[in-house]
Amino acid sequence: MMYSEDEQICEWAGMSVWREKIEVKRGNEMKKWNPVERALVFILLFVILLCGCNKKTEIAEEKEALKITFFDVGKGDAILIETKNTSMLIDAGYDETGEELLSYLRQQGGQPLDYLVITHFDKDHVGGADHVLEEVGAEHIFQPDYEGDSGQYLEYREALEMAGQQPELVTDTRVLSFDGVECLIYPPQKQEYEEEDNDFSLVISMTYGDRSFLFAGDCEKERLKELLNQTEFDLKHDLLKVPHHGRKEKNSEEFLEAVSPEIAVITCSREEPGDNKVRKILQELGTQTYFTFEGTITCLYDGKKLLRIEQSG
Ligand SMILES: [Zn+2]
Repeated sequence: MMYSEDEQICEWAGMSVWREKIEVKRGNEMKKWNPVERALVFILLFVILLCGCNKKTEIAEEKEALKITFFDVGKGDAILIETKNTSMLIDAGYDETGEELLSYLRQQGGQPLDYLVITHFDKDHVGGADHVLEEVGAEHIFQPDYEGDSGQYLEYREALEMAGQQPELVTDTRVLSFDGVECLIYPPQKQEYEEEDNDFSLVISMTYGDRSFLFAGDCEKERLKELLNQTEFDLKHDLLKVPHHGRKEKNSEEFLEAVSPEIAVITCSREEPGDNKVRKILQELGTQTYFTFEGTITCLYDGKKLLRIEQSG
């Protein structure tokens, strides 16, 4: 005779009286099930089953989704875009603040990135690029066409040399397509700017289905003007990486109004959380603004809507 776990425990203890009690109790319980209770149990099981199915649908949706992660690297940029088969990193933070990014890339299997875009050569954008190249590498590397002079830029150049790679210098608008994503890299239009490094920023406009995302590097007033005047892409986007860590420029208002994003991310430190005026303009536009100093931000989009936005820390 096979015993249930309860019964085996009773046998082991030699307490057949207890077993009888359990059996009587079970009998009583069985008798107590009236039609209403049975219906309730049925509904409960149905709801549990439905939740399980929903979870499966959610997981399937997320596998197909576009994931954008804004890492908390202080007042600097490190933004990872992932689709089902492709990864793109836009900037790599400072030399010393890339650990969260690197540990995430390791967790994902340490595969080389498909694309690495260095928007410009300030230390808060190119600083961690040598570590990324050494740890995981990148199949294709894009950068603007000018020479940097910082120590971090030289480390990036050395890492490229070690990897035997040449970056692509973006001088004309470059379009990439992957997993339903259309990605346009818009280079600086002039050879010289008042703000040498920042205004050389590559700008990335990306669409996935009906949704659009703009990563505006550290553009200052001259480059913002170029963005306002260009005709290669529509400036209206659903999500904006706010230019230059939320610093107010002469034409910030016009630019932010033209983009008019639902979600804005300011990559900044607690001490310098962007200018009040920029935050106020975004507020007036009804934009939901997030700050990386409050933690790494992850957004998941399907081609139609924002599925989820989360902030760690
Ligand atoms: Zn910067």
